[in-house]
Amino acid sequence: MLAEAVVPADEILVAGEWRRGSGAESKSIDPADGSVITTVHHATAEDVDEAVSRGAEASAEWGRRLPHERARHLHRIADGIEGAAERLARLQTRDTGKTLKETSALVASAAGTFRYMAAALETFDEELTAPRGSSLTMSVHEPIGVVGAITPWNSPIASDAQKIAPALAAGNAVVLKPAEWTPLVSLALARIITDSGLPPGLVSVLPGRGSVAGDAIVRHPGVGKVSFTGGTTTGRLIAHAAADKLMPVTLELGGKSPTIVFEDADIEAAIAGILFGIYSSSGQSCIAGSRLFLPSARAEEFLERLVKAVARLRIGHGLDPATQVAPLVHHRHRDSVAGHVERARAAGGEVLVGGGVPEGDVYADGAYYLPTVIAGLDNSSPTCQEEIFGPVLSVLTYDDEDDLVARANDSVYGLACGLWTRDYRTAWRVARRIDAGTVWINTYKQFSISTPFSGMKESGLGTEKGRRGIAEYTRQKSLYWGLDEAPHPWAG
Ligand code: NAP
Repeated sequence: MLAEAVVPADEILVAGEWRRGSGAESKSIDPADGSVITTVHHATAEDVDEAVSRGAEASAEWGRRLPHERARHLHRIADGIEGAAERLARLQTRDTGKTLKETSALVASAAGTFRYMAAALETFDEELTAPRGSSLTMSVHEPIGVVGAITPWNSPIASDAQKIAPALAAGNAVVLKPAEWTPLVSLALARIITDSGLPPGLVSVLPGRGSVAGDAIVRHPGVGKVSFTGGTTTGRLIAHAAADKLMPVTLELGGKSPTIVFEDADIEAAIAGILFGIYSSSGQSCIAGSRLFLPSARAEEFLERLVKAVARLRIGHGLDPATQVAPLVHHRHRDSVAGHVERARAAGGEVLVGGGVPEGDVYADGAYYLPTVIAGLDNSSPTCQEEIFGPVLSVLTYDDEDDLVARANDSVYGLACGLWTRDYRTAWRVARRIDAGTVWINTYKQFSISTPFSGMKESGLGTEKGRRGIAEYTRQKSLYWGLDEAPHPWAG
C-alpha cells in the first residue's frame, strides 16, 4: 500500500533547474512509524539568490502576457494536479501523517485554487474611477516581480497553491519555501508545474530551514512581497524584516478559536461539528475549534455525550480508510502536545478523556496522541490561551451572553469561531461581536476558495482567496488622462 506514494528524488527546483540542494540535508520522516521516507538536501542563501534573480527575468516577460495566456497555464497545472491526485494524496499522507481522505481533499483544493485563480484572472477588471476634474482616471494593477511564499507543514499542497496560483496569475515569479518537516508534496507539485510547460524560472521550490532559506527569501532585496502562513512568532519576525525593507506581507498566522453552543442548539449536529472542528487533522489546523463554550444549564448533558463520542473516535494509520484521528506530523510535535496536557493537569485541569498516547503495538512507533477533552480551567489559563495545535479541546461554561463574548474574545488570536444555534438572530448578533476573520454558523471548518480568508489581531495581516485575491500580489497604479484642450491656466 505504501509503495504507491511516489517519493520525489533528492532535488530542488531552482528557477527551472532541478538539482540537489547545496545546503544541509534532512530526513523526511513518516510519522506513522518513524521510518525515514527520504533525504532532502536543503536550499542555501545562494540558491535563493539565483532563484530570485532568474525569477525576476522570467517575470518580466510573463507579466506582459495576456490574462488568458497566463490563465491557460494555470489550468494546465490544475490538470497535472488532478491527473496525479491519488499519488499526491498518498505522498502527503506519508509525509504529514494525515488521513488519505484529508490529503485527497487538500489535493482537490489545490487544483481548484489554480482553476479559480485562472477564472478570476480572466475576469479581473481594472477600475475606471469617477472623474473629479477634467481627467479620465483609472487604477491598474501591475505585477510585483518576485514573490516569496513560505508555508507550514500542516496542509502543504493547499497552502502552496493558495500562494503560487494568485501570484502567478498576477504576473509574478514565485520562490516557495515549504516546511522542513514536509517538503515532499511541494517538490511533487513543482514537478507538475515544470511538466506543465510553464516558462522556466517562474517557480522555484526551495526546501530548507526557516532560519536559512526562509530568512534569505524574506531579506532578499529582489523579493517584493512575502506571503507567509505559519505561527505568530515567526510571522512577527517576518513582519519586522519586512518593515526594514518596507515590503508588503500577507501573514496567515495562528489561532485559538472559540466554538460556542447555545441552549437551543441541535446537539447531535453540534457534537459532530465540534469533533470535526478540533479532531480532524489531529487538531493541527490553524482554525481548529479548540475552546468550547457551553451554556451552564446544558453543560453536563452535553459533555456526557461529547466525551462518549470522543472515546469512540478511531485512531489509526492515515492510509486506513476507517481512521478519523491519524498521527501527528512529527514525534517532536507530539511531545510538545503531550507537554501542554501535562501542564494543564498540573494546573488543576480535569482530563475527561484522552490525555496520553494510545496503547498497542500498532501505535508504538508512531507520533500518535489521543483525542483529549480538558475541563476545569479558566479561559485565562495557558491551556486556553496558547495554540496547542493538537487534538486537545478545552471546555468552558457560561451563563450570560456579554460575559461569553468577552471571554471568547479574550485571546490574542482572532482567526475563526463556530456558533451552534437554531436562532438566526442570536447567530447574527454574536457573529458580529466576535473578533474573528471567519465565523461558521451551524457548521465548522468548511472552506471555499471564493470566500476571502484572513485573521484578526495576532492571527494575521492581509487576505487570501476570493476574486480580489490576485490583487494582493500586485502593485496598484493610478493614471490620470488629461482631457483639457487648453494649457493649464496656472501657467498664465
Ligand atoms: P512556523 O514554525 O511558523 O513555520 C512556518 C514556515 O516558516 C516554515 O516553512 C518554517 O521553516 C518557516 N520559518 C521559520 N522561521 C523562519 C524565519 N525566521 N524566516 C522565514 N521563514 C521561517 O509554523 P509551523 O509550526 O510550520 O506551522 C504551524 C503554525 O502555522 C501554527 O501556528 C498554525 O496556526 C499556523 N497556520 C496558520 C494558517 C492560517 O491560514 N492562518 C494555516 C495553517 C497554519 P521550517 O520548516 O524550518 O520550520
